[in-house]
Amino acid sequence: MSTELHDLGVAALGQALASRQVSATELAGALLARQAALDSQCGPSSLGAYLAVDAEATLAQARRADQRRADGESGPLLGVPIAHKDIFVTRDWPTTAGSKMLAGYRSPFDATVVERLAAAGTVTLGKLNCDEFAMGSSNEHSAFFPARNPWDLSRIPGGSSGGSAVAVAARLAPAATGTDTGGSIRQPAAFCGITGIKPTYGVCSRYGMVAFASSLDQAGVMARSAEDCALLLGAMSGFDERDATSAERPPQDYRAQMLAPRDGASASRPLAGLRIGLPAEFFPPALAADVNGALRGALAALEKLGATLVDVSLPRTALAIPVYYVIAPAEASSNLSRFDGVRYGHRAEPHGDLMDLYKKSRSEGFGPEVQRRIVIGTYVLSHGYYDAYYLQAQKLRRMIADDFSRCFAERCDVIAGPVAPSVAWKIGERSDDPVQDYLADIFTLPASLAGLPGMSVPAGFGEAGLPVGLQLIGRHFAEGQLLHVAHALQQATDWHLRSPK
Ligand code: GLN
Repeated sequence: MSTELHDLGVAALGQALASRQVSATELAGALLARQAALDSQCGPSSLGAYLAVDAEATLAQARRADQRRADGESGPLLGVPIAHKDIFVTRDWPTTAGSKMLAGYRSPFDATVVERLAAAGTVTLGKLNCDEFAMGSSNEHSAFFPARNPWDLSRIPGGSSGGSAVAVAARLAPAATGTDTGGSIRQPAAFCGITGIKPTYGVCSRYGMVAFASSLDQAGVMARSAEDCALLLGAMSGFDERDATSAERPPQDYRAQMLAPRDGASASRPLAGLRIGLPAEFFPPALAADVNGALRGALAALEKLGATLVDVSLPRTALAIPVYYVIAPAEASSNLSRFDGVRYGHRAEPHGDLMDLYKKSRSEGFGPEVQRRIVIGTYVLSHGYYDAYYLQAQKLRRMIADDFSRCFAERCDVIAGPVAPSVAWKIGERSDDPVQDYLADIFTLPASLAGLPGMSVPAGFGEAGLPVGLQLIGRHFAEGQLLHVAHALQQATDWHLRSPK
């Protein structure tokens, strides 16, 4: 079976490991070999998924997993290889957050998410490419090299968790961690035809995640199915006293929640009784026709499974872009002040006095998109502008959240819509116009601002055979319900099983 190992997802690999059809060491070796063959890090034919690979460190973890099994331990993730977005700090691999500022940085500890997944027995394959400090939607803002969409190497994979999406779609890893501040799990998952979930803010610890915008940053999973996402999310989530905004809740079994039959449902109509809200603002005339067409097909499939589609409205949707692009840069400018060449990060040599050291180090270490955000963030927080921009944005953020609350209280259980207004665009196509990138975040930003859980689920294909994602948004802490809906769809359709050539 070794030729098809890379096609298996997390759940299937867990079973193959449990039945001793394959060892964790063999499995890790096979995926490292595939990575070396397909992902040589630069050049137009490379995927550019990984920023750091260390075969020895991976195989050492795999041998430990095999030993744990030999000692009698079991569990669905014991020996399963995964990879981490290079925004989670790791002791055994360098962490850069996609930035020259942190090139060569080694953390003395593992992020909570990494630590918990390792405790469940996962084996780390390496660290995955991303936009610098998770700022971007295309992975073109990685300071090292862009990642490429495996469905068409001339296109972007989405971002900022682009490397994660590429690794999973190209079968370099069965699953990967990602982070989502304004769409960075959902949008690359959609562009690469995989499944991704951003849980409710506070479900996964932010401890050891390099900070971008702390009131929005949330870790999550990218995999090939809802079931695989459920398995990993269960292991990586939960209260962490080292994160002041971590939600105090008991551990969750998301796979059981995903499988639990709902009241009034039957085998052929597992979604009977479920009301899916379609916000008018999520289906504007500007939505690409191919995306709209694919989504209608997925929505019809959900209806066949028993769900009822209802019209709803999220009237402040358009405001999500200006609100997010005030709040996120404001928090980023504060978070990134620690990278000054003294406490953290790249230090310019030679330098003059202290001010010169700061200026040179930050000018050399940060790329153009990060510098742009620091400038915007510093401006909106400065005296005289704080009330006009930052405070206004905070008020509107609350109103955007209230729109969702009203929908969920009065009209529907889950909200559905597109993840992005189009399929993946060409590398370089939008490089001169950052605002074009910002506008493409319109459908993912509202749930982020409201702290709600969101998923991207494969929903067919659009122009040039490129994947389209269906976005599902739930009430706070309704991850289990979103996974239930996505799983029902994936039992009835095969979009999530297709793979690029
Ligand atoms: N594209 C958005 C941005 O550039 C979201 C990024 C993210 O979720 N990390 O900020």
